[in-house]
Amino acid sequence: MTTSSDCVFCKIVSGDIPALAILDTEHAYAFLDIAPLAEGHALLIPKDHIESLEQMPPEGLARLMRELPRLARAVASATAAEGYNVLQNNGRVAGQVVNHVHFHIIPRRSGDGLGYRWNAGVYPEGRAETLQARIREALH
Ligand code: AMP
Repeated sequence: MTTSSDCVFCKIVSGDIPALAILDTEHAYAFLDIAPLAEGHALLIPKDHIESLEQMPPEGLARLMRELPRLARAVASATAAEGYNVLQNNGRVAGQVVNHVHFHIIPRRSGDGLGYRWNAGVYPEGRAETLQARIREALH
């Protein structure tokens, strides 16, 4: 297992920092967020120290994702949530504070006041096609 000595989530996995664990498998760990956006706000992480999503080997991500539906179901059911958001931040600009891949599971209920600015834009003529071509090229 790869770990980083200065990573708070690696220290949680190793038990050096306490956390309220809710799931512990060979490759995955989940615990309650210390500063919850809602009651039951949980974090699902790989035990391996990997900083961001695109660095994860596909098999490792698949293993982690295998745990997500049952974890989301348990969090939602235990908190009697009406729904939930799964949030995954990569990079400071995207709000990532802890450089160890993690998926937030945030229980939601109507009127909870949580939200985000979703400033939907409009592409100028031809821009979407340019980006489509660039992204397709980058995939190869
Ligand atoms: P992000 O902004 O996506 O990097 O989210 C990091 C999350 O980790 C935040 O929601 C923090 O509240 C949470 N967090 C940081 N340190 C701890 C900790 N020791 N135990 C539990 N959650 C933590």
